[in-house]
Amino acid sequence: MTAAAMERCDALVVGGGPAGSTCAAALTRHGLDVLLLDQKTFPRDKVCAGWITPAVLETLQIEPAEYAAGRVLQPITGFRTGLIGGSAVETCYRRPVSYGIRRCEFDYYLLGRSGARLRLGEPVRSLERRGEGWLVNGAIETPLLIGAGGHFCPVARSLGAPSQASEPVVAAKEIEFALDARQQKACEARADTPELYFCRDLLGYGWCFRKGGYLNIGLGREDRSGLSQHLDDFCAFLKQRGTISADIPIRFHGHAYLLRGRGARTVIDNGVLLIGDAAGLAYPESGEGIRPAVESALLAAATIREAGRNYRSERLAPYAQRLQARLGPARPAQSMLPAGLHRLIGGMLLESAWFARHVVLDRWFLRARQRALHAA
Ligand SMILES: Cc1cc2nc3c(=O)[nH]c(=O)nc-3n(C[C@H](O)[C@H](O)[C@H](O)COP(=O)(O)OP(=O)(O)OC[C@H]3O[C@@H](n4cnc5c(N)ncnc54)[C@H](O)[C@@H]3O)c2cc1C
Repeated sequence: MTAAAMERCDALVVGGGPAGSTCAAALTRHGLDVLLLDQKTFPRDKVCAGWITPAVLETLQIEPAEYAAGRVLQPITGFRTGLIGGSAVETCYRRPVSYGIRRCEFDYYLLGRSGARLRLGEPVRSLERRGEGWLVNGAIETPLLIGAGGHFCPVARSLGAPSQASEPVVAAKEIEFALDARQQKACEARADTPELYFCRDLLGYGWCFRKGGYLNIGLGREDRSGLSQHLDDFCAFLKQRGTISADIPIRFHGHAYLLRGRGARTVIDNGVLLIGDAAGLAYPESGEGIRPAVESALLAAATIREAGRNYRSERLAPYAQRLQARLGPARPAQSMLPAGLHRLIGGMLLESAWFARHVVLDRWFLRARQRALHAA
């Protein structure tokens, strides 16, 4: 490679999802020359239900009316929750407590306003240490590498993240499709009230989520064995309830990712740090990953700015401390109760309107008490 063909930047972000584009935006705002590399061209789809809380919009300083012009932003004012095969509890808030977005639109929007130089459609093929910095794909030199490539991020692998088989991941399958005029009429799913139903063994849950003219259905589980069967049971349950019609497409897309506390990924080293799913930060109670991805991106950017272009691991260490302070200590999954009793009590609690509102929704899914993080 000739010196002229070599590309240089102050920071290279690998991955243009919410974590990568948020971190890139925060760094470019402070005058860093940021290059962002993604294996996909954008707009691209991402396997995701596309549910976010108002805190995400606040942190990203997204004005709902401005975003909604030409994009899907579905206000959510209530939820139906319960057990698959059981009855549902409806919880109403009478104000938007969440929104539905389409990842193909949301991620493209964030990337477009990141201010970073983009290299899209190019995967990471090689990562080599060069002095204090890095040589990526034999063509990009940078003193700082930010791993934002999601669960399978190559930067995370270079920091020792194990292969999928040995990590206790959430495995999920999802489909999102446009409803035609006839399906829109026949679909009983209410756009302002998504439905969440837990598996009877409480190891996962399924969702049915209508956003404008689109329907998103999926199921995720901490125990990946029998995922397809659980999904089939869930779809049969939704059809039997009349929520969805019999003719929904059946080509679900799968993905896996790590919940915080379920695995231990190293998040910093000399000249490198991990954010978002690459660091394994999704909330264990709900599987929500966009908010921790965005927040980790801002915490990383604040640490990078303070490091004053010295990216030795001791200068990046405050990032790990900030993550811990913001997200709380990473606790492995554990229950004080025997599994059978845990399931019995869990099943009974899910039928309680009080438990659905105050614990399942306000505490686990909406994190109502945790204020939005603001960029420094
Ligand atoms: C089925 C399912 C449903 C979900 N639903 C929700 C939800 O409703 N709400 C929520 O908050 N969270 C949800 N999540 C979690 C959420 O999708 C993730 O936590 C979130 O996308 C993490 O963002 P990120 O930027 O870290 O990574 P990603 O969004 O995964 O972005 C990573 C980027 O890196 C790129 N990349 C990967 N490998 C390479 C490579 N080798 N070279 C270059 N680029 C690469 C990818 O193309 C991608 O663009 C769901 C997850 C699943 C699987």
